Amino acid sequence: PVAWLNGEFLPQSEARISPMDRGFLFADGIYEVVPVFAGKPLAIEQHLIRLTQSLESIQHPNPLSIEQWTTTIEQLIEKNGGGDIGVYIQVTRGSYQKRTHQFPPLENTQPTVFMTASSLPAFSAEAIGNGFHAITSDDFRWGRCDIKSVALLGHCMLRQQSFEQDAIETLLEKDGWLTEGTSSNVFLIKDGRLLTPKADLRILNGITRQLVIDLARQADIPVEIRDIHIEALFKADEVFITSSTKDLLPIVKIDNKTVANGQPGPIWEKLTQTYQQLKSQ
Ligand code: PLP
Repeated sequence: PVAWLNGEFLPQSEARISPMDRGFLFADGIYEVVPVFAGKPLAIEQHLIRLTQSLESIQHPNPLSIEQWTTTIEQLIEKNGGGDIGVYIQVTRGSYQKRTHQFPPLENTQPTVFMTASSLPAFSAEAIGNGFHAITSDDFRWGRCDIKSVALLGHCMLRQQSFEQDAIETLLEKDGWLTEGTSSNVFLIKDGRLLTPKADLRILNGITRQLVIDLARQADIPVEIRDIHIEALFKADEVFITSSTKDLLPIVKIDNKTVANGQPGPIWEKLTQTYQQLKSQ
């Protein structure tokens, strides 16, 4: 793929950064993933707002204006041939001569700004029609999961657990409450209502999550955004996960227990159809 590093387009394989980069030393940086369908980014404004919020949370100025981000992302998409791709964006606090925990003075550092493109995971219609398996696990991540931080070791360790069990995602519980997946948000359907945990410090407020909530409201599906006990997963009529790279994926088995009748449900089906329409607009 063609990447973009600190103002320059170049082959991804030629991109270089310093080992003193604070992203490398401390995971002192944030990222964003913008999904692109048929060459067109979906909800780019929301992604750039979240990028700005992540930067504000780590007390870092935004290195580019919204217009500069938009233009650069559009150029990157074009240089990578368009189609269905994910644009990966990362901003770190850059490198400094000394490894210090406190942030180095802004005037002495340049952020590292990196973008690249990657293919999106492809799920066959058959796989989606059968639904996916998930497991649950204790959410031992840090207390600021609202920030899209590149510090993802906890996420990786927890995702590895489901990977080793041939499951698509690890659904996380904190003190008995459902939070999210390692790279997705979680929704339940119970008695015709759409339930999802509230976007507090425990979860990333997914852009797909926000789009799905809007679509549900437009379709007059009652939405409840509230604390959800982990046990509610096993009593739900439907469960599905959302993310920019996975869309809406139905979960039909959790910890080897079947969800409802073990088939993707009608409300997931309806929401996934309207989401596909949104993607192709
Ligand atoms: N939660 C976490 C921890 C994530 O990493 C992601 C995205 O990868 C999501 C939720 C879903 O967010 P979005 O819909 O913006 O992709």
